[in-house]
Amino acid sequence: MKKPFKRILYGGDYNPNQWPREIWQEDMRMFRNAHINSATINVFSWAKIQPSEETYDFEELDDIVEMLEQEECDIVMGTSTAALPAWMVKRYPEVARTDYEGRHHKFGHRHNACPNSLVYQKYAAALTEQLARRYGKTGKVACWHINNEYGGECYCENCEKAFRVWLKKKYKTIEALNEAWNMEFWGHTVYDWDEIVLPNALGEGIGTDKTAFAGISIDYRRFNSDSILENFKMERDIIRKYDPETPITTNLMGTYPGLDYFKWAKEMDIVSWDNYPSYNTPWSQTAMCHDLMRGLKDQPFMLMEQTPSQQNWQPYNSLKKPGQMRAQSYQTVAHGADTIQFFQLRRSVGACEKFHGAVIAHAGTENTRVFREVTALGAELERLGETVIGSMPDAKIGVIFDWDNYWALEYTSGPNCDLKYVDQIHQYYSSLYRGNYPVDMIPVDADFSRYKVILAPVLYMVKEGMAEALEKFVAGGGILLTTFMSGIVGQSDNVHLGGYPGPLREMAGVWVEEIDALAPEQSNTIRFADGTDASCRLLCDLMHLEGAQALAEYTSNFYAGMPAVTRNAYGKGAVYYVGANLDQAALDKVLGQLLTEAGVGSNVEESTELEVTVRQSKTQKITFIINFKAQDLPLPAQFAGKTDLLTGQTLDTQTMLAPYDVVIVAENR
Ligand SMILES: [Zn+2]
Repeated sequence: MKKPFKRILYGGDYNPNQWPREIWQEDMRMFRNAHINSATINVFSWAKIQPSEETYDFEELDDIVEMLEQEECDIVMGTSTAALPAWMVKRYPEVARTDYEGRHHKFGHRHNACPNSLVYQKYAAALTEQLARRYGKTGKVACWHINNEYGGECYCENCEKAFRVWLKKKYKTIEALNEAWNMEFWGHTVYDWDEIVLPNALGEGIGTDKTAFAGISIDYRRFNSDSILENFKMERDIIRKYDPETPITTNLMGTYPGLDYFKWAKEMDIVSWDNYPSYNTPWSQTAMCHDLMRGLKDQPFMLMEQTPSQQNWQPYNSLKKPGQMRAQSYQTVAHGADTIQFFQLRRSVGACEKFHGAVIAHAGTENTRVFREVTALGAELERLGETVIGSMPDAKIGVIFDWDNYWALEYTSGPNCDLKYVDQIHQYYSSLYRGNYPVDMIPVDADFSRYKVILAPVLYMVKEGMAEALEKFVAGGGILLTTFMSGIVGQSDNVHLGGYPGPLREMAGVWVEEIDALAPEQSNTIRFADGTDASCRLLCDLMHLEGAQALAEYTSNFYAGMPAVTRNAYGKGAVYYVGANLDQAALDKVLGQLLTEAGVGSNVEESTELEVTVRQSKTQKITFIINFKAQDLPLPAQFAGKTDLLTGQTLDTQTMLAPYDVVIVAENR
């Protein structure tokens, strides 16, 4: 892949339009001091650059661009279409969204445009055209940043009509739609496309997150993701007319449920995302999100936003402790980021983000802890740039993540309301993370042949072709792990009849007859073949062996003696089936056996509590070693004698890493 940037972009959202001009030169002076080389501008400036339907005014934006150009700052140019100007909503109320409760919104907030409003599309296109024509050929833009954090839903009449068109294209006949959604249930059969209504609280919705008919609700999710994606593509195509080369992105949000990011990534030149862990988010969860964002395009990504100090919108917005922002930034780079950008560079004077951290605090000076930490990191990244840009990990383990599956699993009514998709994936990721195994987060249509191991926890929805692809992978020598609540339904959420886990049954060598749900205070016990006892909770499959071998059996409840974890030889490979939500030690044990069988190695030779991550370029292997624990930890022995890229010092067997310490080692391949 061609490297999109020559250096690690270091900077972030910059809103000089919110400040008097005398501040601007002070900003530039402080950016220079902090080694900031990039600014993301014009993200929320629609009302400023188009003060009325008839008028555009680029005078201020021109000045901002020129100022940043003089400072040799790489410009990430927003398109400003993520928050509507008041004049537009007043004149054309239809541009605003109708919410899940059916309320049509007035002017206010952001991410407030109906994606299917032709009026919104017309004005967003016109604005993008103005921007692309003005700045697209100047060579001054390093990256285009369309809209901002796309998301949300609209349930207006425009969207309802567009949904019917989308459905007609998908199903062709109303009979096919009725069958897909199982509309004979409750006599919901529709005879005309116009009888279809959006599945919000006024339709099939139950509460805010359940549905009476998963088929229509999952299709609405797909439709909504596609509708918003069309908005992105519209702006992208306009920019491309004027600017043939500059990368185009929009900032995503990790495991955000609303949009099918694998589908989106196909339309983006580079993935960027906003990383806002809360005070108690496990580091493994953040690492998983980075790997997912890298996995979307299987290439390095941009960190478009993180806070240098604290958020404002979470319940408890703890400060990042000294060294934490630096360690978090290196974790981001270690997992594939080629940029480190902050939201934002100068802290807002008012409105809801005034307590959101920024590089320049309300005090307005560089004499702050945060500014000093940002400056120190900037100096380090300046030196590190060429070494890491464009490099990638080399993972032999793929973990399947699928938005259709995410939606379907969480819409389903029963068997257990505590079943959450991301939590399930994270349990497996977390075990691999603790062992420092390199992992790719992959889509269901990935090239499985690149991997030795595929993990597919709670693969509830097995769509057409998936079982065959997995069978081919296993028959060819791959090791597959899947779990309870897998192989249950097809792409419209109708059950694969003939016994669970449906199309996975033959290769797993088990038949799941029933699924027991346990309340939070309940658990079952299991025993492994070697006599180790463990516990499990949440869901427990009652299954029968059909060729598989039991690795563990239940030792409690009326199904004591039935298999809980199995392994089935299939072709040249094997399928591990985990029938219950295992405790951590048991899950580690199953994965340990599986990884040994597959012959997959870790990033580090010894067991360590440090995070050890590897990126590889054509010539170098770059290892990032970070201490996210509260106590000092010894450097693994294999790195003794190597040089720390950050300090230039030779590491030895006595080297200790204090909390948030980072060591980076580059070795020739
Ligand atoms: Zn709408």
